[in-house]
Amino acid sequence: MSLPPLREVIAQHGLAARKQLGQNFLLDLNLTGRIAREAGVSEDSIIYEVGPGPGGLTRALLDAGAQTVIAVEKDRRCLDALADVASAYPGRLNVHEADATDIDETALFPAGACVQVIANLPYNVSTVLLAKWLTADPWPPWFASLTLMFQKEVAERLLATPGGKAYGRLSVLSQWRTKSRRLFDIPPSAFVPPPKVTSTVVHFDVLETPVAEAEVKALQQVLQAAFGQRRKMLRSSLKALSADPQAILGNAGIDGQRRAETLSVEEFCALARAFTALRGGG
Ligand code: SAM
Repeated sequence: MSLPPLREVIAQHGLAARKQLGQNFLLDLNLTGRIAREAGVSEDSIIYEVGPGPGGLTRALLDAGAQTVIAVEKDRRCLDALADVASAYPGRLNVHEADATDIDETALFPAGACVQVIANLPYNVSTVLLAKWLTADPWPPWFASLTLMFQKEVAERLLATPGGKAYGRLSVLSQWRTKSRRLFDIPPSAFVPPPKVTSTVVHFDVLETPVAEAEVKALQQVLQAAFGQRRKMLRSSLKALSADPQAILGNAGIDGQRRAETLSVEEFCALARAFTALRGGG
């Protein structure tokens, strides 16, 4: 069964883009093919795609030879179009109508599967989803890599190193547990409708062992407190964490006059370990 061009699919199924669902459809086959290629899709690939929409990237993943694509789409209007894609690639595409922010992904895959997450994420929930995946417990998680599209400015924050305004909570979490790299930019004109900003595709490989030891919940709390008031010195911002921030800072060997954006990933992990130890958790 051959599939019609994506513009026809959109017209046929009345898939007028909805802003509240972050719908900017990527119709350029060169670019969907490039995402599949640079994500490293092969015949062994088991892929998790969030938000297949009319199925442009989904088709590219299947054309690249993926063994299985499990997709989660919140917009019921897309399901008929996706059923056509599933028929064109028998036994290889499984679509679930669900909200990716609250689904338990481990129930979608056989235990031990080496899953690649590949998605042109809805912008409104892209950082929520990334945070969900990066804070998975246990680690290593149910996926081996993530290849995701973000607004360029969000991608820059993820890849930022200490010392600048772009460095924040998600930079630390992603650099703690993955090795990430920027793949390429996509201009607004490649999408229907065009978004206001340039997009960037970023690839993350899971590190079996994170760069330093820390308990994930403690690290999240430390990051929340430190970056929640990023202009303040840590001796003040960490009061959100404990009545005695100096005890945590002293135990971690970190000067309380420093600000969050100057700390390395290893130093945040030292704070998280000190926090865990001082509250009697380990
Ligand atoms: N993959 C398609 C493409 O590349 O053209 C569509 C990408 S579009 C940026 C984002 C897609 O995510 C839309 O199809 C939208 O309906 C879907 N979506 C939005 N929020 C979602 C959620 N919470 N869970 C699952 N899918 C969602």
